Amino acid sequence: MLKFTKITASIGPKSSNHAILTKMVRAGVNLVRINFSHDTGDVQGAKIDTIRTVSRELKTPVGIIVDLQGPKHRIGDFASDEKYKLTVGQRFVFDSNETPGDNTRVCLPHPDVIASLHAGDRILLNDGKLEMRVDKCEPTKIIATVIRGNEIWSRRGFNLPDTFIDTEILTPKDKADLEYAITKNPDFVAVSFVQSADDIAYVRDFITARTAHKINIIAKIERPHAVHDIDNIVAAADGIMIARGDLAVEMPFEQVPAISRHIIRVCRQMNKPVIMATQMLTSLVDSEFPTRAEISDVANAAYLRTDSCMTSEETTVGINPVHTIQTMSRILSYADMDTIANPNDWLRIDNIPENNWSRSVASMAHLNNASAIIVFDRDGIATTEISCRRPDMPIVAVCNDETVANHLCLSRGVFPICDPEIFGTRDEVAAAKSVGIKIGAVVVVDDGTISLRGI
Ligand code: PEP
Repeated sequence: MLKFTKITASIGPKSSNHAILTKMVRAGVNLVRINFSHDTGDVQGAKIDTIRTVSRELKTPVGIIVDLQGPKHRIGDFASDEKYKLTVGQRFVFDSNETPGDNTRVCLPHPDVIASLHAGDRILLNDGKLEMRVDKCEPTKIIATVIRGNEIWSRRGFNLPDTFIDTEILTPKDKADLEYAITKNPDFVAVSFVQSADDIAYVRDFITARTAHKINIIAKIERPHAVHDIDNIVAAADGIMIARGDLAVEMPFEQVPAISRHIIRVCRQMNKPVIMATQMLTSLVDSEFPTRAEISDVANAAYLRTDSCMTSEETTVGINPVHTIQTMSRILSYADMDTIANPNDWLRIDNIPENNWSRSVASMAHLNNASAIIVFDRDGIATTEISCRRPDMPIVAVCNDETVANHLCLSRGVFPICDPEIFGTRDEVAAAKSVGIKIGAVVVVDDGTISLRGI
């Protein structure tokens, strides 16, 4: 069975060696995500080298995503290693005093955060289990009341769902990580805690000032401000990640499925690929069997026609990363083929004039029962647009550039091949054979030529 939905696998201690990565790619991984929150420098660089080797050995394009930690803020240290219990109604102070905290106060070592908070804003810790509301802001001090009691301890990250944090999108650590990553020519950079389209422009300027290599930018949507500015962010970025982990802390969790549907729709309309992320098969961290809810979550992401589903801890520290990818592939392939067999919204949501060209290609393929759409694509733009119409046959993208093929690993239903010879001869039969489909295709050349072959 063909799998149209792409798998983005986060890799870590359990999945970074050559043998495991080879098995993971064979099992269905299309992109790998390297999270710079955990390691940095040459440790991460070695992973990039290994993936490139595996991809070339298997003659299978694999996209590499470097995920930057971003401005994840943490409180300071407490006097003891123990956890402090805060109770509803009590006062708690965040200040810029570096003395270790106790159950009345702690240091908040981010002056930009202190300056951005307003009375009434919520401060969430422990994934929202501890909630406070700001009563009063002073230049170096925030006075808050506990609304939902729980424990607090040293160096916890916090979320500020109501606050636009006036801070640079790239921290000094991100800049150092990105400087390093750029030397390894990754295919994508994922930007954490994006708040506006300006953040994407800033990162793009940072990259283009340092390299001519085309690194596509993925905006991680995990803050309410990003959700509210989604149209501009999608327009500015090359792709989107629905980072449901932080998103479900910063937004009411019941809204996350609706927000996800909306983001997928906007991305399709604007011809940008989208990744559904976080806790898709979490049980597989320490079990062989996904829960029924996880199976449905993965399948529903395919039914919503996301471009990609992502694994996190399941493949970084889980007991069996290869089994996780096999499990995800099984669920996705079945749902993808079922979506094609039982279409219910084919083409409907793409009915905007800008997309008429790619809609015509998808219609032509559909009405002629084409077994594939073959695109000879120099830069990946035509293929991405056709993919966003979600045609019900595979799209074979023939590229003459490895980076373009790697970028297309993120586009639903696209089977990229990097073969300068087939690209040069425009040999659609060879292209179709390379992904094992019989010819009978709509052929698109990125100079605008569209034709039917062997139908
Ligand atoms: C998330 O919050 O869902 C997410 C993908 O972000 P992180 O980089 O923290 O895993």
